[in-house]
Amino acid sequence: MDAKFEPLFQPIAIGPRVARNRFVAVAHSAGMGYAMPHATAALRATKAEGGWGVVCTGVCEIDATSDMMGHQNDRLWDEHDVACHRLATEAIHVHGALAAVELAHLGLGARNLYSRVPSLGPASLKCTSAYVPVQSKSMTLKDIERFRTQHRAAVKRALQAGYDIVYVYAGHDRALPLHFLSRRYNQRTDAYGGSVERRMRLMRELIEDTLDEVAGRAAVAVRFAVHDFTGGISVEEEGRPVLESLGHLPDLWDVNVSPWSFDSSTARFDEEGWQEPYVSFVKKLTDKPVVGVGRFTSPDVMASQVRRGVLDLIGAARPSIADPFLPEKIRTGRIEDIRECIGCNVCASTEMYGVPIRCTQNPTIGEEWRKGWHPEHFHIHQPRATALVVGAGPAGLEAALSLARRGLEVSLVEAQAELGGRLVWEQQLPGAKTLGRVRDYRVYQLQRSANVQILRQSVVGADEVIEFGAQHVVLATGSTWRVDGIGPSTPDGIPGLHRVAHAPDEVLSPEQAVLRLSQGHHIRGPAVVYDDDHYYMGHCIAEILRAQGLEVTLISPLSDISQWSYYTLELRRLEQRLAQAGIRCLTRSRVSSVERERVRVDQPGGEQWIEAACFVPVTLRQPREELAQALELREADWRAAGVLSVDAIADAVAPGTVAAAVYEGARVAQELGSARGGSFLRERIVLA
Ligand code: ADP
Ligand code: SF4
Repeated sequence: MDAKFEPLFQPIAIGPRVARNRFVAVAHSAGMGYAMPHATAALRATKAEGGWGVVCTGVCEIDATSDMMGHQNDRLWDEHDVACHRLATEAIHVHGALAAVELAHLGLGARNLYSRVPSLGPASLKCTSAYVPVQSKSMTLKDIERFRTQHRAAVKRALQAGYDIVYVYAGHDRALPLHFLSRRYNQRTDAYGGSVERRMRLMRELIEDTLDEVAGRAAVAVRFAVHDFTGGISVEEEGRPVLESLGHLPDLWDVNVSPWSFDSSTARFDEEGWQEPYVSFVKKLTDKPVVGVGRFTSPDVMASQVRRGVLDLIGAARPSIADPFLPEKIRTGRIEDIRECIGCNVCASTEMYGVPIRCTQNPTIGEEWRKGWHPEHFHIHQPRATALVVGAGPAGLEAALSLARRGLEVSLVEAQAELGGRLVWEQQLPGAKTLGRVRDYRVYQLQRSANVQILRQSVVGADEVIEFGAQHVVLATGSTWRVDGIGPSTPDGIPGLHRVAHAPDEVLSPEQAVLRLSQGHHIRGPAVVYDDDHYYMGHCIAEILRAQGLEVTLISPLSDISQWSYYTLELRRLEQRLAQAGIRCLTRSRVSSVERERVRVDQPGGEQWIEAACFVPVTLRQPREELAQALELREADWRAAGVLSVDAIADAVAPGTVAAAVYEGARVAQELGSARGGSFLRERIVLA
């Protein structure tokens, strides 16, 4: 290990416990929680194995008044939950890490759709969870007393479950003590409202209750959002006073900003370590250890945080998802092997759906138990075999890498000179630079593998595949964006498009638009981008054209621009960014025909014509399936030539996200020759 990273590996006392190093896998939901305790335990254990000094649960509901059914959080409601949590704590301890539990009451954020009791808050306010048209109950002093009792009971259960660190949660605009602290929510006139000292009273009581209950048998941590970008909490008015008053109380401060969309800001909006200006005051106001986050992936940045006294411990949710072995790779001097988080929030999208976690960079996350996948260890394929992977996009790169790690002799063939497929041009989109990490990590690993050969600028057809002589063939030939306008809202295409499509620059696919600009060509405005894809492509093309000084209109048939960005927590900030850039956004609008220099737009109130010298339809992609189809027809030929399997995967079959392509690449490699095939373990309810 490089000596400059040694401070990251100094043990540190956290109350009565000692963490072996400065790496904390902070709380994040894995979308499995109470419903899938074995899967949750295996995920957390993999992080402990990967060297994290502390491994935390996700938000862990304390009781039925804090019910988030629909999101599979962790729960410690009762004895049964204790037994489930023991699976995780025991597995974490096997690998020498401390186990932490983020006990939480979500306050106004709790939906209680399962328990059907009223949500609780400092007043009768709108529930902050989206799409729940209910108000909270204004907590009486008796309610507060009851809540404290329930929290204490959950602390007791956390100890029974074997946790080393018990959290009091006051983060992310979804925690009862934070709602009481917030000027936005708390207008009470009793002992819990008014001055900041009174507004922090509930937080103080919870910390004191928890310290009293653990009685030295575990450490007590507080997760505290020192600043809320939606208002009500600021560093100066609440953050500092809380630390000044309560800084000495808990054994660990885990500090960040709120709401979640800012705490888990994507690479599109913020750089690594961006929370430093907000949290750097904390260490000056407490002598207890401080952990913070900031999508840390660079060991230099992490070491600098500790060296400069900004933080004592490096917290990471997403970087620990993208690479559960991040600390171990630093410790053993394998910095270049770190699979860096790209800050895309595909992981967050799964929490929003309430389904098991996934990650663009790490296809094994969430599959540790049900499929037996491991981020670093692979089952060697027996007998030794050869594989040909066609296409070096995210799917082909991952397939080649996972196959190589399984010991196959792998040939990766790519038509282009540059490896990366869609990543090559997509990483040039605004805010998408980190997509390049998906390629760079894999290309670097492949280039270092003795059992991999890479053939660039080689287009292969069915004859070449059959003649090549590999036993297993993976077709990851990708897809292209359609320019005929066929899409969800225009299933027959856009009338008139084919007549103008032959004019240079008048109709461009997203890829063509990016390539034209990167080659220094001018695109004539005004431009219209029709986004019927609803993720990043539409708004990114609008932004890149706008950056050229073109007048740009971005049109969506849905009620929001880039609607899927809601799931990656980006939607609201994106709206602001597009407005600031001067991009005109039309929602609930459908492009119904295209003529030279103009497009017709149907809207609820009628139709309008919009001037357009350039039109970019972002609707559907067309899988490049010719090779797969040709080989399907020639199965007898390839079998006779000794080919055992041909699998077409990812965008070549069903276009999707980069995360889906990486996953498909991993899947095809992991399943090759596996008795399990594509099946997986399921956690079931036992009738007793
Ligand atoms: P995915 O997201 O599924 O990985 P991409 O579109 O990113 O798909 O990548 C597919 C890659 O496959 C592209 O780089 C493309 O050049 C390459 N490719 C497509 N067809 C062939 C072929 N017949 N021979 C070699 N490479 C191909
Ligand atoms: Fe990072 Fe994206 Fe993976 Fe989340 S999904 S951990 S943001 S790479």
